[in-house]
Amino acid sequence: MNRLEFINTGLAIMGLSQLQPDKIMNTDPLLLIGKGSPNLVGKNYALLPEADKALQAMSAAAQKQDITIKVVSSYRSFERQKSIWNRKFLRFKSQGIQDGAAIRKIIEYSTLPGTSRHHWGTDIDIIDAGPPQEGDVLLTQKFHDNGPYNTLREWMETHAQDYDFLLPYTKDENRSGFKYEPWHYSYAPKSIPMLKQYLELDHRELIFSADLKGGDDLDQEFLESYIQSHVMGIDRSLL
Ligand SMILES: [Zn+2]
Repeated sequence: MNRLEFINTGLAIMGLSQLQPDKIMNTDPLLLIGKGSPNLVGKNYALLPEADKALQAMSAAAQKQDITIKVVSSYRSFERQKSIWNRKFLRFKSQGIQDGAAIRKIIEYSTLPGTSRHHWGTDIDIIDAGPPQEGDVLLTQKFHDNGPYNTLREWMETHAQDYDFLLPYTKDENRSGFKYEPWHYSYAPKSIPMLKQYLELDHRELIFSADLKGGDDLDQEFLESYIQSHVMGIDRSLL
């Protein structure tokens, strides 16, 4: 065994992440779960500088086609996601829905705190600021047919990848997890390595330490299947 082989074998046995934390864990784990203090930029949104730069270039190109990309959601902290989760849970409970069913309804569109791609500063929800804004904007029908954001969707489907923005929650019926979200784009050069690192974390800590509504239904079994179906249930291009 030469020296390099010896080192590689040793690393494999000891666990790479323990031995070389800086090389493997290049993002502070707290940032991956929305609990850190990330270095973000943007006027009416908050993104990693690299994602913001790509967004600005993409927006300038879209503007030439009279499409004004408007970010309605970008970075979201753990606390913010928790308040969204708890509010929805209490609303469904007040409608007489049982705990398990309430959780299943929440995770049609909303993530468990600590598991949102919006924690990373890489993902955005966008609309076109051109048409008049009425009521809920993030509705699938508004992005199709005669909807106000149909032109935006068509432009993004053709051009977004030129700026490294990809759609995690596609229409693909074989995809598990969250429903189709034509408004949600992810800056792939950052979010792909972040997801890889994220999947190495101990997710039990993320959820069991939080004051989350959902009680006994939020157990280890739920969490493991949720990570498989929802966190991993994205377009393959982002895995
Ligand atoms: Zn989103």
